Amino acid sequence: MIGAGAVGVSCALQLAKRGVRVTVIDRGPVGGGTSHGNAGAILRAASPVAGPDVIAALPRMLLDPKSPLSIRWRYLPRLTPWLMRFLNESRPSRVRRNADAIWQLGAGAVDAWRAQVRGTAAEDMLRPVGWLKVYESEASFEAARPGLERYRARGTAVEYFDRDSLRQLEPNLAPLFARGALHADALFALNPRRVVEICADAARALGVTFRQAEVSDAHADDTHGTVTLADGERLTADRLVLACGAWSKGLAKRLGASIPLDTERGYHLMFETPERGLNRPVVWEDKGFVLCPMAHGLRMTSQVELAGVEAPPDFRRIERLLPLARRMLPSLAGEPTDRWLGYRPSTPDSVPVVGVSPRARAALFAFGHQHYGLSLAARTGEVIADMALDRPTGVDESVLSPSRYG
Ligand SMILES: Cc1cc2nc3c(=O)[nH]c(=O)nc-3n(C[C@H](O)[C@H](O)[C@H](O)COP(=O)(O)OP(=O)(O)OC[C@H]3O[C@@H](n4cnc5c(N)ncnc54)[C@H](O)[C@@H]3O)c2cc1C
Repeated sequence: MIGAGAVGVSCALQLAKRGVRVTVIDRGPVGGGTSHGNAGAILRAASPVAGPDVIAALPRMLLDPKSPLSIRWRYLPRLTPWLMRFLNESRPSRVRRNADAIWQLGAGAVDAWRAQVRGTAAEDMLRPVGWLKVYESEASFEAARPGLERYRARGTAVEYFDRDSLRQLEPNLAPLFARGALHADALFALNPRRVVEICADAARALGVTFRQAEVSDAHADDTHGTVTLADGERLTADRLVLACGAWSKGLAKRLGASIPLDTERGYHLMFETPERGLNRPVVWEDKGFVLCPMAHGLRMTSQVELAGVEAPPDFRRIERLLPLARRMLPSLAGEPTDRWLGYRPSTPDSVPVVGVSPRARAALFAFGHQHYGLSLAARTGEVIADMALDRPTGVDESVLSPSRYG
């Protein structure tokens, strides 16, 4: 296993539960990548990013310094092939297909997490409080309603709130919001990184070994996979799982597939827990940011920044949204105690890459979970573990497969 984020650790744990001997290699600490700083929502996800509404809003968003989307123009030449595919995925027929493909993992996402943490210290850290979206006006709620109704049609519990009932649900929110929509069956991870660490401890207890080392190369054929570490050491196994999140593209190529993977970067700011806080994560949909009442403070997450994995962070955009966050939650006081940049691993169709390499049966891919990598991690672990053992996975493997890129 290469990568010890939410996805890699879940794959390792699920393999170990099925009796497989696993070594996980990560250049950093367990859960220290993008899985460290996300918004903690575990949703039965089925929304691709690309769609006609995003394309229509794109020019306005790119010009507005407070919008949640930005591109570093210097990165544009490298991003262009990804962007062209992204535009192509915005056609309604593709959006429907991509939503169905994400749902292959999304449908069982919450149940898989419940099962994965059962009996561990993480059980109490996944709270059944839902994921709340709030809207300033009836008009913005009505614009979002078709997407919410699509979730309902899949059997997801989405409950609607008016101004008064919203106030009862979240009494400390400023009375700015006309409507709310609660994904009621979503879980909230009070500390996503800690949850991943606890799952890693559960894996260790089943014999999984964790090593801190950079993987500089990888090879596989139909029977074996080999990784080369930065110090030249080589390790061989019957199966190799690539779960390096946004950093998977180069190694995937070495393992036989050219995947159009890029990153949607996102930021967070941490604050001391306010005196009159929130009961659950709340997304101000019109402004594109989230306030999350983590166990260790209030977290504000925001932004899709298209700039690759190498450019330095630019915290100015999320900081520009801070006055809005203070308007939304008037008791949010003080300056940020921490700032963080994370890298969502994103394919143009928003569909995770979960499956066997088209050119080497011993290599499996588990990355590209974009905005929903925490949500989909445990279910991905189950699917990868079953695939590695040639057992039925219960999903339509073709729509998640790396082979869809030829
Ligand atoms: C601001 C923000 C908010 C988010 N909110 C949510 C949310 O509420 N719910 C949700 O479901 N998702 C959310 N996400 C998305 C989610 O965090 C990611 O999809 C998820 O963390 C990806 O997990 P991963 O295990 O694939 O990658 P990572 O957690 O990034 O793990 C990849 C690991 O691979 C290692 N690695 C990379 N290259 C090498 C190498 N060559 N050798 C060895 N190790 C290597 C890295 O060190 C890293 O530990 C959010 C993301 C952001 C940025």
